[in-house]
Amino acid sequence: MALKITEECINCGACEPECPNQAISQGDDIYVIDAGKCTECKGQHDSPACAGVCPVDCCVA
Ligand code: SF4
Ligand code: SF4
Repeated sequence: MALKITEECINCGACEPECPNQAISQGDDIYVIDAGKCTECKGQHDSPACAGVCPVDCCVA
């Protein structure tokens, strides 16, 4: 499973450096999560790191 970023994203960039798997990158309109790389932070953090820093709560399961 992987998280995804919704269209609520304001392109602040806060999530990108927090991802332990480099799964987040800046897309054409909003930031995007590579579902093949996202582990939901299992084994690395207690909860998804991107969701923890997103100011508009748009990193969702
Ligand atoms: S849940 Fe974790 S692994 Fe998945 S995109 Fe967010 S920070 Fe990266
Ligand atoms: S932290 Fe949230 S609003 Fe900021 S770039 Fe990431 S998904 Fe978008």
